[in-house]
Amino acid sequence: MTKKYDALVIGGGHNGLVCAFYLARAGLKVRVLERRHVVGGAAVTEEFHPGFRNSTASYTVSLLRPKVIADMKLHDRGFRIIERTISNFFPFENDYLKLGGGQTQAEFARFSKKDADSFPAYEAALERVAQVMRDLALKAPPNVGGGLPSLLAAASQGKRLAGMSIEAQRDVLDLFVKSARDFLDGWYENDCVKTAFAFDAVVGNYAGVSTPGSAYVLLHHVFGEVNGKYGAWGHSVGGMGAITQAMAAACIDAGVEISLDTPVAKVLVDGGRAAGVRLESGEELAAGILAANVGPAMLYRQMVDPSDLDGDFRRRMDGFKTGSGTFRMNVALSELPDFSVLRGKDKAEHHTAGIIIAPGMDYMDQAFDDARAFGWSKKPIVEMKLPTTVDDSLAPPGMHIASLFCQQFAPELPGGRSWDDHREEVADLIVDTVNDHAPNFKASVIARQIHSPLDLERKFGLIGGDIFHGRMSLDQLWAARPVLGHGDYRAPIKGLYMCGSGTHPGGGVTGAPGHNAAHAILADRSLIGRWLRRA
Ligand SMILES: Cc1cc2nc3c(=O)[nH]c(=O)nc-3n(C[C@H](O)[C@H](O)[C@H](O)COP(=O)(O)OP(=O)(O)OC[C@H]3O[C@@H](n4cnc5c(N)ncnc54)[C@H](O)[C@@H]3O)c2cc1C
Repeated sequence: MTKKYDALVIGGGHNGLVCAFYLARAGLKVRVLERRHVVGGAAVTEEFHPGFRNSTASYTVSLLRPKVIADMKLHDRGFRIIERTISNFFPFENDYLKLGGGQTQAEFARFSKKDADSFPAYEAALERVAQVMRDLALKAPPNVGGGLPSLLAAASQGKRLAGMSIEAQRDVLDLFVKSARDFLDGWYENDCVKTAFAFDAVVGNYAGVSTPGSAYVLLHHVFGEVNGKYGAWGHSVGGMGAITQAMAAACIDAGVEISLDTPVAKVLVDGGRAAGVRLESGEELAAGILAANVGPAMLYRQMVDPSDLDGDFRRRMDGFKTGSGTFRMNVALSELPDFSVLRGKDKAEHHTAGIIIAPGMDYMDQAFDDARAFGWSKKPIVEMKLPTTVDDSLAPPGMHIASLFCQQFAPELPGGRSWDDHREEVADLIVDTVNDHAPNFKASVIARQIHSPLDLERKFGLIGGDIFHGRMSLDQLWAARPVLGHGDYRAPIKGLYMCGSGTHPGGGVTGAPGHNAAHAILADRSLIGRWLRRA
């Protein structure tokens, strides 16, 4: 082996960068090894057509932890988030619904007076639980069998949960075990109102709104904040890549070495301890600490030699569920969409929102059922964002871009078919679906970039195209993410850690797994940490 480091980070996604930053800040010699020509992983800005740039995968911000933003001084490095004027716009067949911007209750009243009255209590209930999630996001879950530190973590986190009111504890139970439909049925009567919330439950979740556990994914999408406003989502000026470029600058200032176009092939283990990595080029690098930003499915199925893992762990990682069922397109547009239910091609507040085509609870369940039977639905769920309505740096003057984020597309097509043979036809269907609601849309498309689930895997290294590095189901959450006994970022090989979205608190641009993994690594190096882990 030629070069030696204190720590190597496998992958330069945002969590890899966050982890590297904290390690370097603590004085470690750190190198980030990134497969692509750009850092950021799923949070990047790229030119997808000459003159048109966009956040090519993830596209909207909320979950990024304020502590990470402050510690990395991201605001000083160009990080700026623009809040949405209204959060979401739902075109239905003959009507629409606007959410946010202080209009939600009045909008609900057009559909149901009773639901409008229920809204403040619903919002307060969700916020109570979201606040606990916020508190726990930057804490390592207690580890089963993890000794004294885990008992202390269990006691402190258990106290936080036990300190909640009985009403809030009931809400926690509901959100963790119920389907979004059952959960929302307990609050609302009108289908359009329920749809406005249920959509969050199927984002990155290959499930229907009636699938038990889907209520949790709804909650996952509201624990964030923008500029101090809880639950809000916003646009990163310059796209998501502006965030990760700022993170990379923070890393470099802290002394991190970042290597692009440097894919890792293997994790090297010596005497049961992590010893370094072998690059695809054949070069070997040595380090006693390895932090894997790649997901558990890639780490344990492709990078770690099976003989370095015990049989039970290997079997469970082979069964780790991936595949969020998402299809992602970027399109260049000559003009803004003109919606049949709310006319106008000039920029209006609904153009700045998340525009969601998912008209009804049954529509969303049907999309999932169709995807399981056929691979995708003839009536797909589409969220459209038009970033150029708030950030004109992304397209030539007068032109626009749209992010199309579509749910319920089978990770693997039934009948042995390949996404490579169907991606264009599905892209046409998605464009047609938007066109059904905004009849000028199809003719305004100048160019399009398509990411089927298979494209997401190939391009971003997301196994099964999973946007979260693994299902956000109850069996793969908190202390059980990725598996019970290793929820505290420590892999079963000494010196190997996990710092990506396949660990608590899961997917999204949060920075939390990177932050928490770095703290686990630093704790293991400290005298007290070593003593505690032996106790
Ligand atoms: C289409 C899509 C839309 C999304 N939308 C949103 C959104 O709007 N808002 C939000 O908050 N979240 C969104 N997400 C989720 C969020 O982007 C991810 O959960 C998050 O970015 C993952 O960050 P990470 O650092 O954990 O992993 P990643 O970003 O996946 O980083 C892993 C890194 O490892 C690298 N890598 C892979 N293989 C190797 C190798 N062999 N050697 C070296 N490096 C390797 C990858 O190139 C990548 O840079 C979306 C994700 C996708 C894919």
